[in-house]
Amino acid sequence: ARLPGHNSWERFVPAMLEERLEHARLHRDLETAIEQNAFVLYYQPVVDLTTRGIVYFEALVRWPQQDGGVVAPDRFIPLAEETGLIVPLGRWILRQAAHDAALLRREPGSQDVRVAVNVSARQFAVPGLAADVTGALESAGLPADALVIELTESAVLGREDGGAALEEIHALGIRLAIDDFGTGYSSLSYLHQLPFHTLKIDRSFVEEVETSRLRTELIHGIVGIADTLGLHVVAEGVETERQRSLLQEAGCQYGQGFLFSHALPLDQALRYLRESGSA
Ligand code: C2E
Ligand code: CA
Ligand code: CA
Ligand code: CA
Repeated sequence: ARLPGHNSWERFVPAMLEERLEHARLHRDLETAIEQNAFVLYYQPVVDLTTRGIVYFEALVRWPQQDGGVVAPDRFIPLAEETGLIVPLGRWILRQAAHDAALLRREPGSQDVRVAVNVSARQFAVPGLAADVTGALESAGLPADALVIELTESAVLGREDGGAALEEIHALGIRLAIDDFGTGYSSLSYLHQLPFHTLKIDRSFVEEVETSRLRTELIHGIVGIADTLGLHVVAEGVETERQRSLLQEAGCQYGQGFLFSHALPLDQALRYLRESGSA
């Protein structure tokens, strides 16, 4: 008699090897791409839900390929975090975003526009993040308040040193936004202990706002707490007009999503500014 599962093992082992190879290939390509600065930043506007005026741009990294395709960050950011490559990549992102922010600010009437950069837990875990940020600002000739740093709850929660790095960046005058709020171990206690300026409600809440009364009430509650703590609230992933108006009714002032704009290459972001103006 054959062993049970024999056939599946025959297929499983090569599949695992294949996966390992794929992983190694991606790792090597990522290293090369970092050396060659082969990435670009796209910019998605965060807007006032009522006036639709722009509040800031979020920088989102893309990896263009030879064949004209573009690799989305979900395909390589996790690997970059795992391997530590996020540290040099993150340094490049900070510099590029600061450089682009200076260009965006040169648009008439947009001298106060901000750019937000996503910073991973791993970047907080190595020393020198505050120095990288300062260096990026200086080389672009920007004041500290031109930058927003977005980080997820897990980047700081449960880390002894996470809070200290945050304080250091906050002390520079940079605004901090808590990303993907509601997906982690959302503990309300740290919200007022750490120097956040903005809270971004995760897309998963926004998705259900049209079908679930409870979701809308939860958002209303989050906005209430945020108000008490003096935090701005941005709803992520707003795709429909109905979502926009329900969010507005729930007291949420700002939003971001395909309803307003996808992430845009810099030249299109400049055009967007020209055509829409600030909030
Ligand atoms: P995130 O920081 O939560 O960024 C928002 C993501 O939602 C972006 O995906 C954006 O394109 C997408 N999005 C915006 N509006 C909508 C909408 O209306 N509907 C839907 N379905 N999606 C929407 P993206 O650019 O693929 O980035 C995915 C994640 O990769 C980001 O999530 C962030 O965690 C990470 N990431 C992106 N750029 C960077 C970066 O420069 N550094 C780091 N460390 N992470 C980054
Ligand atoms: Ca973000
Ligand atoms: Ca987010
Ligand atoms: Ca996310």
